[in-house]
Amino acid sequence: MNDPAAQGRRQDLAERLERVRRRIADAARAAGRETPELIVVTKFFPASDVRHLSGLGVRAVGENRDQEAAAKAAETADLDLEWHFIGQLQKNKAKSVVRYASAVHSVDREPLVGALARAMEREQERRREAGEPPRPPLTALVQVDLDQGGPDAWNDGGADAAQPGRGGAAPDDVSSIAAAIAAAPGLELGGVMAVAPLGGDPDEAFERLRAIALRLQEQYPEATAISAGMSQDLESAVAHGATHLRIGSDVLGPRPAVR
Ligand SMILES: *Cc1c(COP(=O)(O)O)cnc(C)c1O
Repeated sequence: MNDPAAQGRRQDLAERLERVRRRIADAARAAGRETPELIVVTKFFPASDVRHLSGLGVRAVGENRDQEAAAKAAETADLDLEWHFIGQLQKNKAKSVVRYASAVHSVDREPLVGALARAMEREQERRREAGEPPRPPLTALVQVDLDQGGPDAWNDGGADAAQPGRGGAAPDDVSSIAAAIAAAPGLELGGVMAVAPLGGDPDEAFERLRAIALRLQEQYPEATAISAGMSQDLESAVAHGATHLRIGSDVLGPRPAVR
């Protein structure tokens, strides 16, 4: 790598990544917990950054739009990466997502479960016909809307569309969506995911998420994933039991404000 711009970018990513890893390790130590898995959210950033990150030891990357994710996954198909889909998902994108994603964190309604299961069946068929090995089951997490039912539930302050995590199931619907995932061929119930409400207290929100996750685990002991925590609130997420952190801007730098 002789290109000085590429070298500078790699150095920049290495430093930010190191800082984030240190924050995660410190938070885990403070909480007396195992270090959660870091998913680096690469949305809005080019495939060249994904390549740098892979070179820096990152294995799990997150994306929230299918078109962008599919293109980057194709450009980096030679790397050993796990793609996590974390954005709102339309049923008609299921077919594309199962081609590259190992996990979907944002399952928030039953019809989407059916669409993902059908897409998995077709994807396995496609691979069979192409003489390729089958893919592993798709890990599916139920996204919970923590804006509902919390102390700030009245404060529906008009979240902006560029903000992450819009969507999510009402806490009361988690168990039926989880049951649909558990029963769907080709899908594996991973656990739950949430974004802390804008302007709310992340400690309170992530503690509610943990309670929902523990209730789910009584019925599905293998559904241990709690995907919570972003750049601003990762310490709080770790303190409240997150097993997976989705970190974008503190590793990659600020994103453009408007998409
Ligand atoms: C963008 C995004 C993130 C990462 O957010 P940062 O604040 O950049 O760390 C995490 N989760 C979801 C669902 C996102 O869309």
